[in-house]
Amino acid sequence: MITCAKCQLQYKTVKIGTALEVMTTDNQPYQLFAGDRMECPGCGHVIVRTGTAPIAAAHEARYPAFVKPYAKRDMLDRAWTTAKEKEKAGGWR
Ligand SMILES: [Zn+2]
Repeated sequence: MITCAKCQLQYKTVKIGTALEVMTTDNQPYQLFAGDRMECPGCGHVIVRTGTAPIAAAHEARYPAFVKPYAKRDMLDRAWTTAKEKEKAGGWR
């Protein structure tokens, strides 16, 4: 269960079957995880919940083919380590 600590309400799944692309510190794709977007019904905070193992790694030849369908359908989120790294990448969304 995933709960919003501020609102003390359980997050609701709002989009199933998304993907999360984890970025390296030099703004390159690293790994892709399958996930779901979830939203707190109280404050509207949105999170991405993923599995523990990646479904693809950027060094694999199949990687671009894995990512493309998610990006096309607005089902792709990205994760930088720090806000500074994200800012350096020009933000995204
Ligand atoms: Zn909340």
